[in-house]
Amino acid sequence: MNTFTNSRLYKPVMMLVLLTTMFTQYLPAQDYNRLRNKMVDEQIVRRGITSKPVVDAMRAVERHRFVPANVVKEAYNDYPLPIGEGQTISQPYIVGYMTEALSLKPTDRVLEIGTGSGYQAAILGLIVSEVYTIEVIDALGVRAERLLRELGYKNIEVRIGDGYAGWPEAAPFDAIIVTCSPTKIPQPLQEQLAEGGRMIIPVGEQYTQELILLKKEKGNLKPISRLPVMFVPMRDSGGKRY
Ligand code: SAH
Repeated sequence: MNTFTNSRLYKPVMMLVLLTTMFTQYLPAQDYNRLRNKMVDEQIVRRGITSKPVVDAMRAVERHRFVPANVVKEAYNDYPLPIGEGQTISQPYIVGYMTEALSLKPTDRVLEIGTGSGYQAAILGLIVSEVYTIEVIDALGVRAERLLRELGYKNIEVRIGDGYAGWPEAAPFDAIIVTCSPTKIPQPLQEQLAEGGRMIIPVGEQYTQELILLKKEKGNLKPISRLPVMFVPMRDSGGKRY
């Protein structure tokens, strides 16, 4: 039987398919720089993010390195993108909004729950002295850690595990950012926030979540502001919702 696989045309046709895929998925490097600056001008600065360290970090971090090949061209678009395992990288504006809300100082130590692609951690890594980030899905945590190392970040530690419990050995933290949504604020995270520290966390049921900014004052968390949002749920290692 003369199948296509062993025909004379197989190799050249497969080569053509491969090359076409490569050239339709990726853009030249200068295009990404242009798209990134446009994204910062239109989605970040124009919508009121004024913190210079945040704006500078968003101009610097190559977001397209953090998304899968099939959506690379969309990396600077105004919406969240799939990163595999049913998870998403937040829309650029949400990353800017959450980072600015934390009023970060260069000496701060920050805990992130939900490493995902590693993009938010990279932004934080350019602004503060130490970043600790936890991801519950092995495959995502491993990939993010490898990428962050490859990109030269030395102040970001990635842990694979359940972020509900926080990172007690490295606590207290000046700021905590949670990028997956529990139905209430995990007690361990409240405890691991330093006095005067800020936490930003999307809390609620699947379709009615609020991104709450809180500040720890005299041992208690005081809500500062709220914004309606939609994040992926926080889950334990067995996949059960918190
Ligand atoms: N900050 C990420 C966005 C991640 S989406 C970025 O910049 O790409 C939220 C992530 O939270 C998902 O990867 C999900 O797997 C993770 N997550 C969900 N529950 C978690 C838990 N209990 N502990 C740690 N990570 C969790």
